[in-house]
Amino acid sequence: MTDDLQEARNDMVLKQLLHRGIRNPRVLDAMRKVPRERFLPPSQRDRAYADQALPVDCQQTISQPYIVALMTEAMELDGEQRVLEVGTGTGYQTAILAELAREVVTIERHAALSEQAARVLNELGYRNIEARVGDGTLGCPERAPFDAVMVTAAASRCPPALFEQLREGGVLVIPLGGRDVQTLEAVCKVGGAPESESLSACRFVPLIGEQGWH
Ligand code: SAH
Repeated sequence: MTDDLQEARNDMVLKQLLHRGIRNPRVLDAMRKVPRERFLPPSQRDRAYADQALPVDCQQTISQPYIVALMTEAMELDGEQRVLEVGTGTGYQTAILAELAREVVTIERHAALSEQAARVLNELGYRNIEARVGDGTLGCPERAPFDAVMVTAAASRCPPALFEQLREGGVLVIPLGGRDVQTLEAVCKVGGAPESESLSACRFVPLIGEQGWH
């Protein structure tokens, strides 16, 4: 893909990702490819490759590119996985996942965000994404088990339904902590039990739902 923002994307990958230790070549390629500006409201487009989260519609945010890359890298996707994403938001992270997995089921509680994300993802040609509207803390039992699960909103504990829908040996990435600051955790299912690894401090909007904040 070549366009006038390709250089900005390459620069973002070098300075924000490679220099901070993101190494997975497939993740770096996906981050070089997906046009983040397409997922932003017009007022934010000139900041598409800035090193920060940005405000989007419905008082939500699009994650900082580094956090998107870090969360994606932790899932160790090789193109074969079926992935569940909770918190579609703009759909930017969904696109990165769709580049690296076989299939992505993504759930968003705001119908307006889900529809907008689905429209952009469709325009960009993604055909391996199923966008759903609903309470993602309950997951998607009818499509379970998933090889990997990503939650892009913050919870105080891992929603049990999501861990249950993760296959044995799979990884679930989620920001856990308080409403204001959290730690990004990669939770692996080993012998049916969780084994967690902390990746980074982070700040996400709250996960609101039956097994999240009320
Ligand atoms: N990954 C997104 C950023 C998501 S922000 C991106 O790249 O743009 C977190 C999103 O989670 C918000 O859109 C919010 O509405 C959504 N959310 C919060 N609680 C949710 C729930 N229980 N189910 C589904 N989506 C939820």
